[in-house]
Amino acid sequence: MATKDKLTNTYNRHKWSEQIQLLINLSDQDKTFSVISLDVDHFKKVNDTYGHQIGDKVLQQLANLLQKDLKIPDMVFRMGGEEFLLLLTKQGLKAASEVAERLRNEIETYQSEGLPKFTVSMGVTEFHFGETENQLMTRADEALYRSKGNGRNCITTVK
Ligand code: GH3
Ligand code: MG
Ligand code: MG
Repeated sequence: MATKDKLTNTYNRHKWSEQIQLLINLSDQDKTFSVISLDVDHFKKVNDTYGHQIGDKVLQQLANLLQKDLKIPDMVFRMGGEEFLLLLTKQGLKAASEVAERLRNEIETYQSEGLPKFTVSMGVTEFHFGETENQLMTRADEALYRSKGNGRNCITTVK
């Protein structure tokens, strides 16, 4: 239980710390992995318009869509609020950005009875051998921030 988020059944922040350290420790020059930082667009408005309970259901629905799409060994983490991280353990930048764009599109076009439509913004980057978790995550956050600045409902890939 200590590894999972109650609301969405995705992995929690604690598990993230464990997993990213493991991957960095096992990393080598010849293979890399990627992270996608994901944040729901205008989620405050979803809560304000439809209520917190519907907001919760949107988060659960989003988690279902992400988990349905990503298969082991890729992992979905809820870092807090409406922010998620995707860990693509065997994929470089190109493959990861293709995954991100596919997910973005799937989420944009998804329509469920009783739930409002919603979109997400994402930042995609890959691990550089020898760097720290902090360096990696700073890049992922910058990429996400740029997607927000570019109008949301889009992905930004940073080498
Ligand atoms: P942006 O597109 O810039 O990301 O705008 P935003 O409205 O999504 O971002 P902001 O950070 O302003 O709002 C996030 C909101 O998420 C505010 C908070 O009330 C809501 N929130 C955080 N955790 C939960 C939760 O577990 N359930 C629900 N329903 N809402 C949550
Ligand atoms: Mg946010
Ligand atoms: Mg948001």
